[in-house]
Amino acid sequence: MKDIVTRFAPSPSGHLHLGHAASAARAFGYAQKHSQKHSQKHSKEPGGICLLRIEDIDTTRCKPEFEQAIYEDLSWLGFKWPTPARRQTDHLADYDGVLDKLRDKGLVYRCFKTRKEILNDIARAPHYPGEPYTGPHEVMDAGQERELVAEGKPYAWRLSLYRAQEYLGRQYNRLSFMDGGEKVRAVPALLGDVVLARKDVGTSYHIACCHDDALQGVTDIVRGADLLDSTHIHRLLQELMGWPVPRYHHHALLTDADGKRYAKRDKSLTLRSLRQSGVSPQNILAQAQELG
Ligand code: GLU
Repeated sequence: MKDIVTRFAPSPSGHLHLGHAASAARAFGYAQKHSQKHSQKHSKEPGGICLLRIEDIDTTRCKPEFEQAIYEDLSWLGFKWPTPARRQTDHLADYDGVLDKLRDKGLVYRCFKTRKEILNDIARAPHYPGEPYTGPHEVMDAGQERELVAEGKPYAWRLSLYRAQEYLGRQYNRLSFMDGGEKVRAVPALLGDVVLARKDVGTSYHIACCHDDALQGVTDIVRGADLLDSTHIHRLLQELMGWPVPRYHHHALLTDADGKRYAKRDKSLTLRSLRQSGVSPQNILAQAQELG
C-alpha cells in the first residue's frame, strides 16, 4: 500500500493540450514529491504513486484515438503509471450499482423535464441568475411516473439534495473537505440536484469519478479549480455511499496571455502539434510550470 495515491483522469474527447500537461505535472509531481520524501526515510517501496484513469463514459464525445494519444503524449512527457490504466467504459456495471444503491435509499428521482422547462424553472427561482436546479421536494405519484416511463418520455436521474439532507440529518451541514490544507465546508447546493445518469450516458462524471477514487484508494486529488464546485457534490456522495474522503488540492487553471483558459478546441496548443513543431517535453513542462 502506498501512503499517497494521486491520479490524473483525463477524458479522451480531444487531444491533450498545455493545460492538461500542467495538471498532469501537478498530479504526478505530488506523488513523486512524496515518494522522494518517503524513500529518504525508508529504503523500501516508494510512498507515492500517480494513477492514470481514462474517463470515457461519454461515448458520444470520447474516441479510442484520443485515448491512444493520451498514452503517447503522457509517455512523451516522461510520466509513468501502473498499467493498464483504468478505463471507465470497462466498468459501467459498477456505476449502475452505485445508482441502484442511491435509488434504494430514495435519494434519486426521475426528472422528466426538458432542458427548456428546467431553464424556465431556474429563471423563476428567487436568486436567479445562475441558480442551480433543485427539483420538487415531493415524490412523483408512482402511477404517473410509470405512465411517463411507459410512454417513453426521456428522463434523467437526479440526486435529490432535499432527500439527502433528510437522510443525513444534521450531518449534512457538517460535511467538509480539505482543500490545499484548508478545511472547507461542503455546500452541495452550489450545483443543486445534479444529473447522475441519463439514457444516452447511463452514469455521470460524479458517480464514476467518486466510485473510482474510492475503489482505487486515491488519497489526494490534484485537479483544476474548475472542478471545485463538483467537489462539494462529491463530498456528499462520499457520505451517502460510505466512501473515504480524499484530500483535495485544486490548482488554478492555466490561462493564455489574454487570461483565457486553454481548451481542447485550441488545436495549435495540443501537445501533439507542439511536439510536431519541434517543442521538447522539457520545454512543455517548464512552460506549464511557469504559466500555472
Ligand atoms: N475527467 C475530468 C476532465 O477531463 C477530470 C476529472 C477529475 O480530475 O476529477 O476534466
